[in-house]
Amino acid sequence: MTDPVVPDIQRGWVLHAPGDLRLEELPVRRPDPDEVLVRVSAVGVCGTDKHLFHEGRDSSKVVTDPLVIGHEFGGRIVAVGKNIDPARIGQRVSVEPLMPNWGSREARMGRYNLDPDQLFCGNPGYDGGLQEYVPITADNAHPVPDGVSDSSAAMVEPISVALSGVDKAEVSLGGRVLITGAGPIGLFAAQLSIASGAGEVHVVEPRPSRQKAAAALGATVHPSLEEAPSDVDSLIECTGVAVVRHDGFFHVRPGGRVVFIGVGDQDANVPMLPVIEREVTLHGVMRYHFTWPRVIAMLAAHRIQTDSLVTAEIPFEDALREWTQPDPDEIKTIIRIE
Ligand SMILES: [Zn+2]
Repeated sequence: MTDPVVPDIQRGWVLHAPGDLRLEELPVRRPDPDEVLVRVSAVGVCGTDKHLFHEGRDSSKVVTDPLVIGHEFGGRIVAVGKNIDPARIGQRVSVEPLMPNWGSREARMGRYNLDPDQLFCGNPGYDGGLQEYVPITADNAHPVPDGVSDSSAAMVEPISVALSGVDKAEVSLGGRVLITGAGPIGLFAAQLSIASGAGEVHVVEPRPSRQKAAAALGATVHPSLEEAPSDVDSLIECTGVAVVRHDGFFHVRPGGRVVFIGVGDQDANVPMLPVIEREVTLHGVMRYHFTWPRVIAMLAAHRIQTDSLVTAEIPFEDALREWTQPDPDEIKTIIRIE
């Protein structure tokens, strides 16, 4: 079923090659039987989108065909496939961009984020949110209540990454957490650690604008890792910087945990003394699983805030500016589609 206002042609930002992002007219694909069609309202820009634009790749994924980028987005359902309840038309949603094969071994084991054949909106293989209309599996369109804004709906994705990291760090009541990097993921990890009852949340960040943001959220800020405390229960590493990755291990107590979220070099220098003699364990974070309902509940209950992280809102037509005129004080940019 389709709302009569849905057009056949729309606009979308298409990446053709590194540095070549164009606003083009694209067909609107009608939803398959198990899909809904989302009219996108807000799209968050992530480091991944910068890598795709500048390098034509995101870690191991290389752009070979024209691709609509954007994986942090929300909007409103305007059409449903024939297996989906038409009552969902009009519903505001946040889109989970990860589409696993539910028959895969990893999905059957409950960790669908590890399915090697997963599709992901805005990565090679599936067009993303920087277009007016996105068809998506109905289960990936999570309803959001009216108290959650469009930009918050777009930020459920990066909050989910942070939540996966906080879960892996086993942040506990009264625990001590060290977070390196106060970009969006680090700032959300700080908020979630505080909400989880951590006794101390320390954030390492050299940039004054980001230091201010971290302090305003209730974290204790240190300009460099050397000045941060040692003996913390867990380190949540959000920079991907080689020396931070290495030295961070020495700030964790025996038996503590190190969680790598930041994507940096493919090879890292990991010190063996903490790993072997002190049994500090290292955990990677590959996206998320089953986080959307939890994050939406946190947002609805105002346990986590997004507004102070939004440093710019750009109209859809001007989106290219985000890639060609970088803002050194940027935390999170939201592109709005009116
Ligand atoms: Zn992202």
